[in-house]
Amino acid sequence: MEFIDLSAQRKRLGVDLDSAILAVLEGGHYILGPEVAELELALANRTSARHAITCASGTDALMLVLMAWGISAGDAVLVPAFTFAATAEVVSLLGATPVFVDVDPVNYNLDPLSVARTATKIAEGPLRPAAVIAVDLFGQPADYGAIATTARHFDMRVLSDAAQSFGASRSGVSTGAMGVPAATSFFPAKPLGCYGDGGAVFTDDDELAAIVRSLRVHGQGDDKYDNVRVGINSRLDTVQAAVLLAKLRIFNEEVAQRQLIANRYGELLRGVAEVPVTDPGTVSAWAQYTIKLNNRDQAAVALRKAGIPSAVYYPKALSEQVAFLSCPTDPAGLPVSAELGKRVLSLPMHPYLSVQDQERVAAVLLEASVSA
Ligand SMILES: *Cc1c(COP(=O)(O)O)cnc(C)c1O
Repeated sequence: MEFIDLSAQRKRLGVDLDSAILAVLEGGHYILGPEVAELELALANRTSARHAITCASGTDALMLVLMAWGISAGDAVLVPAFTFAATAEVVSLLGATPVFVDVDPVNYNLDPLSVARTATKIAEGPLRPAAVIAVDLFGQPADYGAIATTARHFDMRVLSDAAQSFGASRSGVSTGAMGVPAATSFFPAKPLGCYGDGGAVFTDDDELAAIVRSLRVHGQGDDKYDNVRVGINSRLDTVQAAVLLAKLRIFNEEVAQRQLIANRYGELLRGVAEVPVTDPGTVSAWAQYTIKLNNRDQAAVALRKAGIPSAVYYPKALSEQVAFLSCPTDPAGLPVSAELGKRVLSLPMHPYLSVQDQERVAAVLLEASVSA
């Protein structure tokens, strides 16, 4: 059993994918070729965002937006403590200060009360609360309405880290079009993944879009040899765009399949573990299916012995990682992030997971819970 079975998808796409890649090789436009423009249109259509701007990774997508906003030394950027390192790393790379806030114990997304408490405290000191990055953890969109209300009160910008949630929606609105700029990732294991690194920025703001387009090509003005700002090299290569276009054609079906698999896990694991809960009106992209267990480590060992892969996303709050030990946190502490680190376990999740495999996972977890 695979944790994420990319080879099943590869088999399904077969020669379509081969010929798409071959066409790029023959076409000779390896960086920002015609497939990249085609993909950007398709991504904008899929999400209803006004602009989709591809780039070299999800990490770069986050950083490009912060760069466009001029986030720099003296700025505090509030980020959840329970997320992947990239969310906070981009803040530090720009010389600004990541400030860790806690998450909600049910949906694992940013807790607006923690944001308000922390921004109030930061505003009393030397740093300016400049922005907040909300993460759509495990594929479920954060509540951008509530977060934007809190952020407005402190005059903070909001960025969506949608690296795990491409394909999700809240109240019928797709990830990428939730009223704030969003950054997604096309890392192979994400819901829509390519065969290398890739990412995209989504925004409805024409000016922001133009700046991000400039920043990703060395701060170009009229052309590459006209430099109007300091930028970076962060372009999507054309082969990856061709791969993503081929995968987009089956993507809606795959998202629906992930939902069926999540529903089935929910039934199979009732009474065995705390299963994920989605907010009313949200459709998750199910990047991960993450349960909570009191005997998490024993359960992981039992699964491993049965040949079933699992993973702990994330074992530690980012505030406890060596790289971020000196960063400020919510003055009330980060109890939810700390507890989740001890109890979460992510199970195999991909659109091609069989009923039999899901039943095996559930049987092993049931036995581990009985013997605990
Ligand atoms: C994967 C991920 C990123 C980074 O994306 P890359 O494409 O790997 O750079 C950022 N934030 C979160 C929450 C992620 O899961």
